[in-house]
Amino acid sequence: MLFDELSQYYVKLEETSSRLEMVDILSDMFSRAVPEEISSIIYITQGVLGPSFEGLQVGVAEKFAESAIAMASGYHAEDVVKAFRKSGDLGLCAEEFIKKSKLRSLSKKQLSVVDIFRSMLKIANTSGTGSQAGKIKILVEMLTSSSPIESRYIIRFALGKLRLGAGDATIIEALSKTYAGSRNSKPIFENAYNICSDLGKVGETASKSGVIGVGKIRVTLFSPIRPALAERLPTAENILEKMGGKCAVESKYDGLRAQVHMSRGGRRARIFSRNLEDITEMFPDICKAAFSEIKADSIILEGEAISYDDITGEFRPFQETIQRKRKHGVQEKSEELPVHLFAFDLMYIDGEDLMAKPYEERRKRLESAVSGAGLIRFSNRIIATSAKQIEEYFNNAVEQGLEGIVAKDMGSVYVAGARKFSWIKLKRSYRGELSDTLDLVILGYYLGKGQRTEFGLGGLLAGVYNESKDTFETVSKIGTGFSEKQMSSLGKSLRAIRLTKMPARVESVVAPDFWVEPKYIVTVRADEITRSPMHTCGKTQQSDAGYALRFPRLVSDGIRTDKSAEDATTTKEIIEMFNLQRKVRVSK
Ligand code: AMP
Repeated sequence: MLFDELSQYYVKLEETSSRLEMVDILSDMFSRAVPEEISSIIYITQGVLGPSFEGLQVGVAEKFAESAIAMASGYHAEDVVKAFRKSGDLGLCAEEFIKKSKLRSLSKKQLSVVDIFRSMLKIANTSGTGSQAGKIKILVEMLTSSSPIESRYIIRFALGKLRLGAGDATIIEALSKTYAGSRNSKPIFENAYNICSDLGKVGETASKSGVIGVGKIRVTLFSPIRPALAERLPTAENILEKMGGKCAVESKYDGLRAQVHMSRGGRRARIFSRNLEDITEMFPDICKAAFSEIKADSIILEGEAISYDDITGEFRPFQETIQRKRKHGVQEKSEELPVHLFAFDLMYIDGEDLMAKPYEERRKRLESAVSGAGLIRFSNRIIATSAKQIEEYFNNAVEQGLEGIVAKDMGSVYVAGARKFSWIKLKRSYRGELSDTLDLVILGYYLGKGQRTEFGLGGLLAGVYNESKDTFETVSKIGTGFSEKQMSSLGKSLRAIRLTKMPARVESVVAPDFWVEPKYIVTVRADEITRSPMHTCGKTQQSDAGYALRFPRLVSDGIRTDKSAEDATTTKEIIEMFNLQRKVRVSK
């Protein structure tokens, strides 16, 4: 496929305001590709240069993109800078300057998608002194062979600002439509994605060996598995009933989820976060322990990393564990804030895939694979057959300063990437009014009045993720809880992802001063969930009212870097919490 053709599809994607239409456009686009190029097309569409957990982006700085546009069109860099100041979009500038280019290239070569992908990879992998000139040269070469529309997307992609708004679920649906003939086979594609977290791989497999091939994708070392998630229920009785009278009950540690992949022969250990970010650098101590405390040649296990007080042995709050996330002084921090990894699941060992084995078997295998007495421990647990046992264990956990418990269905398989009742959490916070926090995605912002205009930020329009529709729905305006410092840094981050119109995957009846790309998560506390016609969260064709938060305030220290937009609290969870809230009131 020529990059020009891909660009035409991107124009259509940008123009549509319907998610279903997005699926159709993407599906059309995929059907035009040959197997060798499908993964490049998917990665480019996602704005990356490989599976998103590798996080490889081109990362060209604006200044260099400006120079490249000037060189490729025969203008002065100042002309480009001026135009950029006006439009705020270097992609549009590139388009404009290539259109009115003063240079006539004699040997204009039509670039394919794969050509562009390779050149971008080359830019990303060029480093060291003097590398900037090399990067600009590659960019100029691409631009001089491009049409105006192609240059728009080349520049946006190089800057990491493609923002087509197609989320993973939308791409999956389009793949299903393309390679299985309809959206109905979506679960097969979803399942494969949950296992390998690599949409390029899923697309390539579909294109080469069809749905049957996709169904055969298995766990692979160093490709993170999308983590299983927990449902919630209000009482120990409800949990026991749902579990059929018997279940395992584990302590719930409030740290960072860590999926550890280790290959002894390959001398390699990697750790992935809940949202599949590579966090290996944060935990050199866990990597070391993986080699010395695990009795296997290769393994994928999961646990919660949490820092503790070296002297008293008490656990430290999440805010302290997350301090390990830093670029410099990692070694010092790891001494200052020692961690334990409380392992709770085993998905793969020595070539054997354990995903479909029952929980109890995976746990037993985990206990025999790890020594358990060093840095890596096992999550504490009991097997409960009565609500009283669960209740006591819960109270005990809370007294120890833990977050609560996670009950686990002993016969359940590992359900990658989904919130299912095979894991049910009970947190201390459900016991009163709504004191459980919510992770909301910022959809837009307001400029505010008075002193707040100084920061360019007066409030946020925040939303939740609707998993079944793959859309973001508004649930609250948030105007309080910000410190001055937070306001100015949030304002800056949001200005950089501002959009000119509401994105196709956002549903809203209110309009903020500025829309932003759904990207950042903030943690919010509220007093209550209420019904409201102002918000689209949970709104259906039959009901006029959605759900909204009463007295929302920000509690996270700015943006939550460990979560991505689709990790936000879901619409389904809000409705469940609304119902829980009513039950608690009635029982009180
Ligand atoms: P939540 O983030 O509130 O939905 O709770 C689920 C999270 O609890 C998981 O993603 C883990 O990071 C964390 N967690 C802590 N302890 C456990 C445990 N024993 N089993 C499973 N998850 C746990």
